[in-house]
Amino acid sequence: VDHELDYPKSPAEMDWSFHYPKFFSHPDQAEPDASSASADEAQTQKQVEWADVGCGFGGLLMALAPMFPDTLMLGMEIRMSVTKYVTDRIAATRQYQSMLPPDSPQRQPGEYQNVSVIRANAMKHIGNFFEKGQLSKIFFLFPDPHFKNRKQKARIITPGLLAEYAYVLRPGGILYTVTDVKDLHEWMALHLNNHPLFIPIPNEELADDPILEAARTSTEEGKKVERNKGDKWVACFRRAENPED
Ligand code: SAM
Repeated sequence: VDHELDYPKSPAEMDWSFHYPKFFSHPDQAEPDASSASADEAQTQKQVEWADVGCGFGGLLMALAPMFPDTLMLGMEIRMSVTKYVTDRIAATRQYQSMLPPDSPQRQPGEYQNVSVIRANAMKHIGNFFEKGQLSKIFFLFPDPHFKNRKQKARIITPGLLAEYAYVLRPGGILYTVTDVKDLHEWMALHLNNHPLFIPIPNEELADDPILEAARTSTEEGKKVERNKGDKWVACFRRAENPED
């Protein structure tokens, strides 16, 4: 049923093997000698590093996955049918990749094993999925189209929620926002600018950043805005060092 959300009690309880089988082994299928694996090894286990909040149909993730095949990236999407669409899209793409001959020009680095999606209310549960400082990038692309009609509390960027996003984002990590709604851009930029843990990145500084280019142009909503010749507003912020460090 649509209103039931599954989420782990804490990030440590999350089983990522279902999402990234090439990167995580199933908890029940631990190698016989796994107990001899050093604590170091456990700590070097790859982690999800990039989150696309409200990923919609997954265009950003599908663009970035082959560009950064060693980086694990995850879409978070609240709508069940949309999440299923992205799940199927990734599974079909992986399967297609696995069937291509090794020398096929269509073969993509990483074969999309580094990308997945979960159904989640990111506003409520982002901290259930990610440890403190786990993420190095977090994307908010064309969020909240009807934000003006929403109570402030229901918006995806609010002062309270920025504390959550700052928690999961590591110092030096980047939060990207792109929108075609000018008022929303102003709202997000205002609160991010006012937050002590987010430092604005001048747009010029990211002018040649292929990730920002993908964020602006590769999502389904971004493509729609382009077709309609709409404007796009971009605001990116770097996560500051923790004050106590
Ligand atoms: N980022 C995509 C793009 O650019 O094409 C989708 C943009 S769409 C306008 C906003 C998406 O955010 C919708 O798919 C919606 O279901 C999702 N969403 C809204 N609130 C959310 C929440 N609290 N957690 C996760 N996803 C959410």
